[in-house]
Amino acid sequence: MRRDLVRFSKWLYRLGFMPGTSGNLSARLDQHRLLVTPTGVSKYLLKAADLVIVDLEGRQLAGTRKVTSEVSMHLAVYRLRDDVDAVIHAHPPLATAFACAGRALDEMLCQEAVMTLGVVPLAKYATTGTDEVAASLVPLVAGHEAILLANHGAVSYGNTLLDAFLKMETVEHLAHIHLVAHQLGTAQTLNADQVEQLQKAKARYVHNATRPESRIALESYTRAIRL
Ligand SMILES: [Zn+2]
Repeated sequence: MRRDLVRFSKWLYRLGFMPGTSGNLSARLDQHRLLVTPTGVSKYLLKAADLVIVDLEGRQLAGTRKVTSEVSMHLAVYRLRDDVDAVIHAHPPLATAFACAGRALDEMLCQEAVMTLGVVPLAKYATTGTDEVAASLVPLVAGHEAILLANHGAVSYGNTLLDAFLKMETVEHLAHIHLVAHQLGTAQTLNADQVEQLQKAKARYVHNATRPESRIALESYTRAIRL
């Protein structure tokens, strides 16, 4: 798990989603403990030994570094979603620009938006590192897979680190599509019938993706990532 957290940290850094010392990742170790990135460390320079362990109240149980100041964001997601085993918070530039412009990614412009994340809502403004952040997420976590944070960045989550990572990558991709479609001036949103057809196709796809053989493929894919 330490190796995977370091690997995904570097991958997110290289994509430009975690510049400076920004961004943080966490993964569930068991029912009571999380492995989390520390505060103040570049995600490119992060080492496995830098990671810290906290309980679900955010109390630090192990590690020589101090846990990220944004840990309450992660805790809020784990508390509200039993199915979530990994959380990623990042500042991808285009998605963050939408969050700074007060805009959710809520227009169904491309088929991929419906097939993957659906609506990515915008959580109301909260000062980073305070309990306001968790409170701003509470109404949105249950019904969404990724959330924009007003004037701040984005958070994604899933049943593996890879799952959370792919969602964060998709958030930035959708922000890019939204931006360019609107720059072109003739953005065409999908109609209700088209969205319904895609949701049906998605339901079939999700069913296939949860079959045991695809979980094995997912694990070998995770192992194959070398950075
Ligand atoms: Zn942040």
